[in-house]
Amino acid sequence: MYKCTVCNYLNAEGEAPQKCPKCGAPQEKFEKLAKEHADKITRSRHSNYLLKDLITSMETINDIAEQGIDDDLDPGCRKLFTEAKESAEFLRQTALAEIENHIGKGKWG
Ligand SMILES: [Zn+2]
Repeated sequence: MYKCTVCNYLNAEGEAPQKCPKCGAPQEKFEKLAKEHADKITRSRHSNYLLKDLITSMETINDIAEQGIDDDLDPGCRKLFTEAKESAEFLRQTALAEIENHIGKGKWG
């Protein structure tokens, strides 16, 4: 795994490219990452993609909950959909914070 030291673009497969596809920096601006570091990035990326999917799912739950709240069939339904909306928002914000923590620790890549 090679990383562009100018823009942080990661070349996950093969050798360093002749030119950075993102910023155009020459090949010598790429550094080879130690296997341990590369493995950590690969694992963290997987976890970050799962968190992204979780966030998307929570947005779907939020949309469903809002429809249920608007429908307002009876107090029981309103309570359930309100709790679903609050739980989805909590999980969405928690997942976003976790991704931000990963980025801050250099785990995004
Ligand atoms: Zn670059």
